Amino acid sequence: LALVHHPVVNKNGDTVTSAVTSLDLHDMARTARTFGIGDFFVVTPLVDQQDLVERIVAHWTTGPGGQYNPKRREALELVRLKDAMPAVLDEIAARGEGPPRLVVTSARPSSRAMSYGRLRVLLSDGQPTVLVFGTAWGLAPDFMAAADVVLAPIKGPGTYNHLAVRSAAAIILDRLLGRPDTAS
Ligand code: SAM
Repeated sequence: LALVHHPVVNKNGDTVTSAVTSLDLHDMARTARTFGIGDFFVVTPLVDQQDLVERIVAHWTTGPGGQYNPKRREALELVRLKDAMPAVLDEIAARGEGPPRLVVTSARPSSRAMSYGRLRVLLSDGQPTVLVFGTAWGLAPDFMAAADVVLAPIKGPGTYNHLAVRSAAAIILDRLLGRPDTAS
C-alpha cells in the first residue's frame, strides 16, 4: 500500500505536495494490518513532513504509545517512509520477486478502469503489487497515466463522491482481499 503526497493535484488541477494527515497514518495502517498488507509506504518529499511521520510512528512503535496500545503498534510497524514513488518501486524490485505492478486509485472515472473482480484474479499471480492512494484532489494525471492498472472508482448510489482516502482504502482492500461473508 502506498499513500502519496506528491505528485497530487489541488482543486485547480495544479500539481502540488500535500501535507501528511495523522489520521490517514493511523487508519490506513490499521486497515493494511487487517488485510495482511506487507508494507504501508508513506511517500512525501518534504523533510518537515517526514519528521512528523517519523515522530508519530516512533511514538506508537518504540515509544510509550506502543506499550499502551500494542495493537496500534502492530499496525504502525508497517509504515515505511519514502521521499518518492521510484524509491518504493526500487525497494520492492530489489526483493527479487519481480518488478512491482503499479495499481492506482481515483474517484474519477477512467477509460482504462479495471474492475475489482479482474484485479482480484490478477493479484493471485504472485507478482508484487503496490496499490497507490492519493491525497488532496487525487494523484496527478501523469502519474496515473504511467501506472500499470487504473482501478475503477468506488461509487455510491448517488452523485456525491468525496470519500476520505482512508475510507476508500478500507473499502478497496475489502473488495480485493476480504473474505466472503458466510453468515446466514
Ligand atoms: N477527486 C479526487 C480523486 O480523483 O481521486 C479525490 C481525492 S481523495 C480525497 C484522495 C484519494 O482517495 C484518491 O486519490 C483515491 O486514492 C482515494 N479515493 C477517494 N475516493 C475514491 C473513490 N470513489 N474510488 C477510489 N478511490 C478513491
